Amino acid sequence: MIHPDTVLQFISPEIGYGVFATRPIPQGTITWAHDPLDQILTPDQVRGMPEIYEEPLARYTYRTPEGDHILLWDLARFMNHSCSPNCMATHYGFEVAVRDIPQGGELTVDYATLYMTPEESFDCYCRAAECRWKISADDAEKLADEWAGRIQTGLLRIGEVDQPLLHLLRDGCLQRACGDHGVPYQLPLRRLF
Ligand SMILES: [Zn+2]
Repeated sequence: MIHPDTVLQFISPEIGYGVFATRPIPQGTITWAHDPLDQILTPDQVRGMPEIYEEPLARYTYRTPEGDHILLWDLARFMNHSCSPNCMATHYGFEVAVRDIPQGGELTVDYATLYMTPEESFDCYCRAAECRWKISADDAEKLADEWAGRIQTGLLRIGEVDQPLLHLLRDGCLQRACGDHGVPYQLPLRRLF
């Protein structure tokens, strides 16, 4: 489920739609969390689907390390890629804001963090100063340390900001994510809602 302070907006015919903040969303906010309405499609299910689903599967799903396709039920599936994203995906079914996102700012994520397959790649025109131009599965290994650092900057503030999606996280996920990134996990969080 995407953060409630977001809205879908049309950007351009080339880009299509994107997800924008309707209020400031501070660094450390959980901006998306997997929830029970998201549809999980196993590799066998995907292989058995008619060709007509190929394009929407490629466009609107992301993959897990196990190879499942996840179709997000809400506008989270319209989040665009950036080589300098303000949201980062953790390995625990949630994303965290790694910078302050101003009201009207677009929420973005790096698609290479979403378990691309070796045969997948795309040209990028995100206009970020650090744009990689070509996005591929290889990026995950090359950028692992940099991504971990960015996630850490978000997790360090996780107890300081409102967290309307916190109740969606599975038990222990936040603790494990903090542990992976060397962030002390402190309960209680200042404000949950
Ligand atoms: Zn780019």
